[in-house]
Amino acid sequence: MAERINIMGVPVDMVNYDEALARFRSFVEEEGVSLIVTPNSEIVVNAGKNEALMDAIKQAEMVIPDGIGLVYASKLLGHPLQERVTGIDFLGKALEYLAQTGKTAFLFGSKPGIAERAAEQMEKAYPGLKICGCRNGYFKEEEEEEILREINEAAPDLLCVALGSPKQELFVLKYKDRLKAKAAIGVGGSLDVWSGDLKRAPEFYRKHGLEWLYRFIQEPSRYKRMAALPLFMLKVIFSKKGPVTTED
Ligand code: UDP
Repeated sequence: MAERINIMGVPVDMVNYDEALARFRSFVEEEGVSLIVTPNSEIVVNAGKNEALMDAIKQAEMVIPDGIGLVYASKLLGHPLQERVTGIDFLGKALEYLAQTGKTAFLFGSKPGIAERAAEQMEKAYPGLKICGCRNGYFKEEEEEEILREINEAAPDLLCVALGSPKQELFVLKYKDRLKAKAAIGVGGSLDVWSGDLKRAPEFYRKHGLEWLYRFIQEPSRYKRMAALPLFMLKVIFSKKGPVTTED
């Protein structure tokens, strides 16, 4: 079992892509729904302020280190993560596995039309992949039962929830016992990227952990969120005391 590192109270699995995928494969074979979360530094900071989110992450079956901030933090804490495993790249690998094994995924979230367009692109990228349902992410609480019914009728192997954090994690946790899916993952804005509506940072930025800079150039109004990374590093330095690793 993978070792877990504790970053400001948030457990993070010290997995690389291969190990994360191996665990995903076992989730798909098991009964019940396994929750996969992909925190970045912003989510770690938010979890410190939001008990429900922290609880959801602690209950997740796999916590993937998405975000260069977590890799830096793990080095500062003396337990370096092997590599950054981005949610979107992990999602691609998971979909590829589903395609190879004739399994299914349901896309829930993002603005109307996005999930359908993302599904088209995913099925093109991974021949054999079956997207067994799509549902946009704008709904009232009283519509949740109907959404649950839609998902359960499709009974996907993987439920991709694109509602942003913490909404996506809290939705899965709320219905965990009733969801008929093998795994559920919060994918943030990944469907917007798959549909072609949001551009991913070019290779150069990704390789150097500079996605935050690219996003800032694209959307300068996000400047407040950009300040989160240096602030996060400071917080990690000051939270260095206490237990760092636990066995899973
Ligand atoms: N979203 C949604 N329902 C909501 C709020 C957001 O479906 O009530 C979608 C939004 O359209 C986007 C995704 O959630 O596709 C993630 O949004 P964002 O990138 O802002 O999330 P974050 O970066 O916080 O994960």
